[in-house]
Amino acid sequence: GDLRNDEFKVLGDLGAGAGGTVDKVVHVPTGTVMAKKLVLIDAKPAVRKQILRELQIMHTCASPFIVSFYGAFMKEPHICICMEYMDRTSLDGVYKKHGAIGIQVVGKIAEAVLEGLTYLYDVHRIIHRDIKPSNILVNSRGAIKICDFGVSGELINSIANTFVGTSTYMSPERIQGGNYSVKSDVWSLGISLIELALGRFPFSNNDDHDPASNGSNGPGNGNGNGRSAEDDSDLPDELRATAKASRAPPVLPGAGAANSPPPVAAAGPNMSILDLLQYIVNEPAPRLTPPGKYPREAEVFVDDCLRKDPGLRKNPKQLLVTPEDLEVWAKGMA
Ligand code: ADP
Ligand code: MG
Repeated sequence: GDLRNDEFKVLGDLGAGAGGTVDKVVHVPTGTVMAKKLVLIDAKPAVRKQILRELQIMHTCASPFIVSFYGAFMKEPHICICMEYMDRTSLDGVYKKHGAIGIQVVGKIAEAVLEGLTYLYDVHRIIHRDIKPSNILVNSRGAIKICDFGVSGELINSIANTFVGTSTYMSPERIQGGNYSVKSDVWSLGISLIELALGRFPFSNNDDHDPASNGSNGPGNGNGNGRSAEDDSDLPDELRATAKASRAPPVLPGAGAANSPPPVAAAGPNMSILDLLQYIVNEPAPRLTPPGKYPREAEVFVDDCLRKDPGLRKNPKQLLVTPEDLEVWAKGMA
């Protein structure tokens, strides 16, 4: 049946993003623990009704790589979205707490995200539009699932109007307002994979730098500020195994290596978001660094994700149907 706001009891705070806040709640009539996301939407009632209608598509999204949907309802002036609670929360929290994630696990994450993206696009013609570590969730059973995909055109519009949609995970073609396709999600995946493997945002030379609170950049990618005691949970076994081994200090691009040229332009923590977006468009794509530290398959895969020309970039399905590399990588046989 339909969910109502007075049927929930708040158990804790899971975090806040640019677009809203997320609570851990229990749906009292059924005893189901859920994550309840509150999205503030500045839109006319008719538009809000339309958004709610569009969100219902999520009832039909069923995949082991997609966070399940329980329902959505209006709570003026918010829209509440109730979804599967993932008890180890998001990967940004995992690496900020435990350090860089082992490259084999990063391979499994790549595979899960590609499966999720392929499902969304093949079955529902949905492009995710917001792939980033905070939208990749994990639970203690070792499941890796994506959430917060762009299912509602009206919701995307309403959020875009408030400039919240701007993010440093955006592909060059999207920054330039070009053709947006499922390949843009592949770019965002590539950026996210580097971030998880290095334990820092790839466009930053400062490991304390939180891409979510990108200096003065008010708009966009706000996340992670609302972390709570939920973060004190341990890693799932699967993730824990390699997290420790890989906790190497972050390597600064060009730093200390006499034979590697300095970055063409410095992307640093003091960049404004507009400078950073310009940098993404104009400079070479980031890579797994230093060269040779990670399995060759991982380097090639990330390079494939980060082809600046979307015409040369594979789509999620193409990246999945040539899985030899991904398998070698994920099994750590390189
Ligand atoms: P963002 O994704 O930009 O961080 P959100 O508002 O989407 O902002 O989410 C805020 C935080 O809530 C996320 O970073 C994540 O850690 C947590 N979160 C979101 N959805 C869930 C969920 N279904 N289960 C557990 N934690 C969640
Ligand atoms: Mg999110």
